[in-house]
Amino acid sequence: MKSLKNRLKFHKKYEGKKYGRLTVIGVYGFNKYGAIGTFSCECGNIKEIQLTSVTGGDTTSCGCYFSERLAKRNRRYEDVNLIKTKEYLTWNYAKSRCKRGMYKKKGIKMCESWLNSFEAFYEDMGDAPSKKTFHRKNR
Ligand SMILES: [Zn+2]
Repeated sequence: MKSLKNRLKFHKKYEGKKYGRLTVIGVYGFNKYGAIGTFSCECGNIKEIQLTSVTGGDTTSCGCYFSERLAKRNRRYEDVNLIKTKEYLTWNYAKSRCKRGMYKKKGIKMCESWLNSFEAFYEDMGDAPSKKTFHRKNR
């Protein structure tokens, strides 16, 4: 068994190395599984992680990468399912028809609230109508 001093010296070679988002600040301790590295993450966090889990590629961030990826996916989820839904396109179409006064003649009062809020429209209309009333097909 190497002395602690030697082990620390041995792990000097990792200093400054980068794995994913993590840069090795140094190795200052050990547990029964081996060296514990102190890492600085691109997000600004400092974290101590089992060295081999980083050098082996199992860990590539302080934990922020996973949550960021999740956040991104959630954003995209919203975009696709709320903003770009048929309902949203229908709303846009309905708004443009409202602006041109096409519904005013027919006395539809909802127009005003629709113009200001997709939520209001959505509440009135519910999910995309199966009727073709609002459906605009690409020609
Ligand atoms: Zn991080």
